[in-house]
Amino acid sequence: MAAKELQDYNINDIPALMLDNVDSVIVVDSKTDSYRTLKRKGIFEKYIEESGTYHDLIVKLWFHIDETNAEVTEDYHVFIDSTGKFTGKYSRRIKIHLEGSEKPSIAQMTVYPIENNEYYLFILDELNEEEVVQEVETTKKISTIQNTYLFSMYIDLAQDTTSSINITEISDNVVNSQIKYSEWRMMIVNMFMPEDQEQFLRRTDPEYLKKNFTPGKTSSYDCLMRNLEGKYIWVKLIFSRAQTLVDDDYRFVFMVQDIDENSQEILSALKKYEELAIKDPLTTVYNHGEIETQLHNALTGLQKNNEKASVMMIDLDLFKDVNDTYGHSTGDTTLKLFAGILKEMAATNNSLVGRWGGEEFVVVCLGMNGNEVLETAERFRKDVEAYEFPEIGHITCSIGVTELKPEDTFDEAFDRLDKAMYKSKHNGRNQVTIL
Ligand code: GH3
Ligand code: MG
Ligand code: MG
Repeated sequence: MAAKELQDYNINDIPALMLDNVDSVIVVDSKTDSYRTLKRKGIFEKYIEESGTYHDLIVKLWFHIDETNAEVTEDYHVFIDSTGKFTGKYSRRIKIHLEGSEKPSIAQMTVYPIENNEYYLFILDELNEEEVVQEVETTKKISTIQNTYLFSMYIDLAQDTTSSINITEISDNVVNSQIKYSEWRMMIVNMFMPEDQEQFLRRTDPEYLKKNFTPGKTSSYDCLMRNLEGKYIWVKLIFSRAQTLVDDDYRFVFMVQDIDENSQEILSALKKYEELAIKDPLTTVYNHGEIETQLHNALTGLQKNNEKASVMMIDLDLFKDVNDTYGHSTGDTTLKLFAGILKEMAATNNSLVGRWGGEEFVVVCLGMNGNEVLETAERFRKDVEAYEFPEIGHITCSIGVTELKPEDTFDEAFDRLDKAMYKSKHNGRNQVTIL
């Protein structure tokens, strides 16, 4: 009999209830690398100390997440907010091998960042269900697939069994690894559009699979499937028969891959972010870091594979005057337009454009020798000279060109390039120099 009626509980009961039911509560200060245990009972009585270093604690717990004997190194930092890696809540099952006990104990570890991520609250609870052990093992086995596939499972047609089912988004009422394959397909069929159900049943029919799949064969088809929110999303259903030399070995892997437009959008957004990281925001040409990398790559390409390459450095002439006369914002617009002309030039000959800084650009011209780039640079210089920039009218630029030599170090090549550009400045600007 419960001590109280349901409606008699209130928020003030929580501390006592939590303290009764939670096995261990630990507060961690990642900054000073220390922890203090506020409560521990059961298996944690011996396993967790009263206090100690955060490192020792994380080694204890992290070791059991990984289930390897590998030393905890990088992971140790995972909750330290200064690395920017972890600011959310985290929950995970861990398997703890206690000394002297045959079977591992399973615990749920939940971590809450508290006090503006200055501290972390670790809550540990021992779980004692047999199935949980299995789940931990399974999770590890398919964790790689998990990222790309919504759903994956192993099927043995000869035994009519399924195992290691993993689901991330579709539904969890089919997460029963004891289920027979023949029953499973009759359950899951309801997750497809009514008009696709017949096709699903035909293609998942054990006799059909046995007849049409030679060992190692993979086949797939696209269809709409209902996700957890009850929304139909496009998925790819993939069937793959295991490589085997045994005729009556009918083991298959079945996977569901998310090919929905929304997920594709997220992927392309991610790609966009990746691109942003290497682009200069004002001019959208490569930023300093990226063009420097490209220059390094060009030099390596020459030295390893004899792929010739030349470089151009371009500096706008008397650009300070533009800013001083027309203002910084007009200066910015001019830089954007200038970069646009530069990109057009580069697009015609396999060249990579980057903003080295301020009003200075570097172009890596792959597959071109010095004289070819000299000609291109000269044409570009004339184009710029002729271009009517809004508000400011005409501006010019000074250019240096050099061909990479196999014996060059990066600094030597860059020095020559820099000198060539300054020679153009020194000799009166609006000209190209090759060195
Ligand atoms: P020189 O022909 O000798 O190169 O003369 P300069 O005025 O171009 O050279 P200097 O290096 O003295 O000045 C470069 C100027 O470019 C300084 C700054 O006003 C301007 N500049 C650099 N970056 C930016 C930018 O992002 N936006 C704007 N509007 N101006 C910039
Ligand atoms: Mg300049
Ligand atoms: Mg400059």
